[in-house]
Amino acid sequence: MTSAPESKISPPALLVRDLSKAFEGTVAVREATFEVTRGEIVALLGPSGCGKSTTLRMIAGFERPDDGLIRVNGETAVGPGVWQPPERRRVGIVPQDFALFPHLSVAENIAFGLADGHRAWWTRVWRRFRHEPPPARVAEMLDLVGLRDFGERYPHELSGGEAQRVALARALAPEPAAVLLDEPFSNLDQNLRASLRLAMRRILKAADTAAVFVTHDREEALSLADRVAVMREGRIEQIGAPDDIYYRPETRFIGSFVGDANVLPATSLRGGAETELGFVILLDPIDSEDGRPLDILLRPEQLALKPAAADDAEAGRVINSEYYGHDQVVRVRLPSGLQVETRLRTETVWQPDDPVQVVVLDDAIGFAR
Ligand code: ATP
Repeated sequence: MTSAPESKISPPALLVRDLSKAFEGTVAVREATFEVTRGEIVALLGPSGCGKSTTLRMIAGFERPDDGLIRVNGETAVGPGVWQPPERRRVGIVPQDFALFPHLSVAENIAFGLADGHRAWWTRVWRRFRHEPPPARVAEMLDLVGLRDFGERYPHELSGGEAQRVALARALAPEPAAVLLDEPFSNLDQNLRASLRLAMRRILKAADTAAVFVTHDREEALSLADRVAVMREGRIEQIGAPDDIYYRPETRFIGSFVGDANVLPATSLRGGAETELGFVILLDPIDSEDGRPLDILLRPEQLALKPAAADDAEAGRVINSEYYGHDQVVRVRLPSGLQVETRLRTETVWQPDDPVQVVVLDDAIGFAR
């Protein structure tokens, strides 16, 4: 008889299972379950108070869960009878305010993340011989975050974006299995955020570590993450690739939270839906009898406008439009009084009161009522 072959599949870099935490009777996190593989970036997205930071703090070891399991590279950090303190977990942390040590140079800040013995030795050397080259790992980290010549600067000599990259380099220096980032862009200038998101993604991918970041900004989550976990009232309501979350939301809450949404009343008809905009095909047909009440969800960019005759009783009327150059958002009142929002290219500029026909361009998401 031969024994079963050992599994060759390596464990996920981070595994979180049924993690729960209550504060004085208020449940902050309920049975959060997800995994992050090496090289993958996962966003925890949700409104204020939904439990994102508490989840991150439990993974970091700053908060003790009431229940659940956390494994880092297959090693149990939290589980029945197991509690590893933060420093034992192979997890790096980038705090919201970056928390750089003001009295240490950039290179010293990064070296601080390295093993204790090495750090103490090296900090002494660095102090005494300012011009010693930093250890290879510090130089490598400076290169990784694009700050090769910044090693001798002090935190007050850095821009917000540079400080963020130093904090990231410090967290990555000891080669953690996973890095945790708490609202990484909230302390940065609004105009810089889009370019910094790209830089952050490039650095995390190059470091090939698992990353989890917390945000309440949907654009940040959709553009930076490989997968987004949407949280609500302590629960992860859906986890998936950004386009899944955006175009295939599993609940009305997710549909409205991750993007602008038109939710229209409808009735089921042959697996599709009859609406005020006509018959709409559903992306995932609803298995129900004809005539059942539904809600359908369509994004503003999934609708178009056509000019209609002024006396057309089925035409809608433009309420207003916002012109952005690359596109415009036009709000329309339908004959029933219902309002819809469309996002259109700008070759036609619509004016208030224009009679229009609203055209559905894509399949919709249907929710049974
Ligand atoms: P935000 O985006 O505002 O930071 P969040 O999604 O990160 O919100 P958490 O900070 O995890 O939410 O909080 C979840 C819930 O737990 C909230 O109701 C909060 O008030 C509560 N909570 C968090 N920390 C504590 C604490 N130390 N003591 C008591 N209640 C807490």
